[in-house]
Amino acid sequence: MDVVNNSYMGESIEIEGAPAYDISGWNVSGSCGPQCSMSANYCFLCTFREESDDITDGEEDDCGALKTMIRALAREKKEIPTIVNSVYSLYEKHIRPQCEYTHPLTGVLVKKPKWNKNSIQTHLIYSREFPDLFDSIVEQVFHTVINSQQQRVMNKNTGAVLEDRDARSWTQ
Ligand SMILES: [Zn+2]
Repeated sequence: MDVVNNSYMGESIEIEGAPAYDISGWNVSGSCGPQCSMSANYCFLCTFREESDDITDGEEDDCGALKTMIRALAREKKEIPTIVNSVYSLYEKHIRPQCEYTHPLTGVLVKKPKWNKNSIQTHLIYSREFPDLFDSIVEQVFHTVINSQQQRVMNKNTGAVLEDRDARSWTQ
């Protein structure tokens, strides 16, 4: 990592640089980042993959079913907390009871692994499997900022625009 010298309030401070997205998640020490590969938490969708097309009739494709539900909720523009709760509920009721996997670092067989809501949210946002969800978050942020700004741009008594709060003044 690079160390960059910066000046703040007349004092020199050192800022340690790091990548925005670290691809060395296989390296268990010294890596950092918000994505699943940098987390110590178990993630079902990172651990398992969808079944191939030649799946035998009657066999269940838990991964595929989960992704289908997430995409359907994203299309309906459900909020992220609603989707996280739905994924958690489906996993707990229908997948976790018969789920087991071998931990990649310890080699230990883990039965009925807990997939917590933080880990679910991390996967939904950072995996890039569900780009609609990120678009939805960006839309929600802008929607909230614009609505919040909208409530404060006029002088309540005179009805005149408060110039310092007018969005056009941000570009000057
Ligand atoms: Zn994941």
